[in-house]
Amino acid sequence: MSFRHDFLFSLLDLIYPEHCQMCGAAYGTAPWFSRGPRLYGLRPWDSPHLCRDCFTTLQESFPATRVLDIGTGREVPVLAAQWTNPQLVDMVGAWKYKGVRGLVWPLSRLLTQALAGAQLSAQNLLWIPLPLHRRRRRERGFNQAHMLAAQLADVLGGRVDDGMVVRRRTTLQQAKLTSTQDRMANMQDVFALGKAFTGHEYGKSTRIIVVDDLVTSGATAGALVRFLSSRGIQVEAVVCLGLAKADSSGFSSGSSSGSSNG
Ligand SMILES: [Zn+2]
Repeated sequence: MSFRHDFLFSLLDLIYPEHCQMCGAAYGTAPWFSRGPRLYGLRPWDSPHLCRDCFTTLQESFPATRVLDIGTGREVPVLAAQWTNPQLVDMVGAWKYKGVRGLVWPLSRLLTQALAGAQLSAQNLLWIPLPLHRRRRRERGFNQAHMLAAQLADVLGGRVDDGMVVRRRTTLQQAKLTSTQDRMANMQDVFALGKAFTGHEYGKSTRIIVVDDLVTSGATAGALVRFLSSRGIQVEAVVCLGLAKADSSGFSSGSSSGSSNG
């Protein structure tokens, strides 16, 4: 960062001290967290909006994993930074719904730290963000899964392809549907291959990782994995910030592991 940048941020500190989204405390702009690269979705004025103490608290939860049952005898692991907990839900909500975009830096850091232990080698990694319907993306101004994928690719290697698959329609919020049948019906024909996708974007050795923010029932991520599989594109894993422990409809039975004190 240049001297001019440092000076500018010091000046901003004086005028607009940043507040931590979790505890509300004001803190300086320079201190603990590098703003990192301004990849997809990030604007020059975005900042982490989390203090060091709260980040440390978030880091105390352990990574979580379950196995998605995608039918025809195939299972795909879901790797998460942690089991979904109230603090994480608050931070993801502020990021997605209140537009506190800079939270993607500390949040993605939680996931890259978790994935470091999962031995994802950077070779031939292709990150596929769970697509948002274009109307919803326009309203929000960004696709949070794409923001997360861009940060993951920057740290762990590989590249992001947000054009391989599109969402043809909006769906009801999966969490509001109670039966597995309703959830399956809700996800019917939701995805399609992108117009620009030719199949040349990936080869046999490409390792495809689907990226989502929070995985609850596994129905949406599972539908995407099944859709890609039906087009001959095999997904190696789904990664996300938070994974729900309780809701089991889309998962293989008895597949939870990991622990959490969050
Ligand atoms: Zn704080």
